[in-house]
Amino acid sequence: MSVPPRIGFIGLGIMGRAMAANLVKAGFNVSVYNRDRAKAAPFEEKGCGRASTPAELAKRCDVVITMVSDPTALDAVLEGPTGVFSAGFAGCLLMNMSTVSVEYTRRLMKRCFEERVKFIDCPVSGSRPLAENGTLVLLAGGEAEDIEAVRPALSAMGKAVIHAGPAPGGTALKLCVNLIIAGVTSALAESAALAGTLGLDPRLIFSVLSENPALNCAYFRMKERNILEGDFAPAFALKHMLKDVRFMLKEAGGRGQALPVTAAIEKLMSESERAGDGEMDLTVIHRRLSRRG
Ligand code: NAP
Repeated sequence: MSVPPRIGFIGLGIMGRAMAANLVKAGFNVSVYNRDRAKAAPFEEKGCGRASTPAELAKRCDVVITMVSDPTALDAVLEGPTGVFSAGFAGCLLMNMSTVSVEYTRRLMKRCFEERVKFIDCPVSGSRPLAENGTLVLLAGGEAEDIEAVRPALSAMGKAVIHAGPAPGGTALKLCVNLIIAGVTSALAESAALAGTLGLDPRLIFSVLSENPALNCAYFRMKERNILEGDFAPAFALKHMLKDVRFMLKEAGGRGQALPVTAAIEKLMSESERAGDGEMDLTVIHRRLSRRG
């Protein structure tokens, strides 16, 4: 691996584009790949390399970072004749930062082991503003020496690295943390719907939350405008949280662990997705709750 490593970044969506931009800002040699080529153009303008395929990207890099939607997207960029694994990537390091299941991460670890590729699972906690400020919390699973090798790059994207033991520890920790976010967001949306039903201005809820030091949380302030103004432009799309909630239920169910609150949230979010709201911010569940009366 060259020092500093040549980094290939795959997935320039809401999160990936901000994270890759912070790597460029920190002076790393970054090349990018995105399925929709238009999203790579701003990086080319900054002097980054743009690859036409994930394999072409992997050939010119020591570290490949993936930040795509889900397992289907990861398979699309890793496997097949133009995927990362077709590039002869042995000895290099793959760091998946997308949120996927523990089961998928285990399979990916095995695949990397067979290909003699080092692997870290490193999903992130924090949404678009934290990605843009480089203050994400990074939940890393892997060998300590591999994490140390990429620590300068991690520091460019996040303010803290929590080492959750060997992979798939990062993914397991991410699902536990997102369970809380799913619950808190659903509670906010439901509370605002109840306020409306009781003839109260839902703004009052946010006033109480911000005045009470035990409840004054930046997440509530981030989501306040979405709920009060009905502006559901996505920072974290409902479809991605629903994917995570389903991973939680599947992993828990397979081990005999009941998650009754998460199961109810899955039902609520599925209804919104079926109504065509999957691409909107996850707070969009408030719209259906308040229409239901
Ligand atoms: P996003 O804006 O929807 O971006 C998704 C990325 O995946 C895009 O680059 C997209 O490429 C790519 N992609 C999707 N399907 C693909 C396929 N079949 N083949 C190749 N590329 C494909 O998502 P995001 O919000 O950045 O989230 C990315 C990951 O981070 C997800 O796993 C999400 O759960 C997780 N996450 C998100 C947040 C958040 O607040 N947004 C926070 C923490 C973690 P195109 O541009 O070509 O569509």
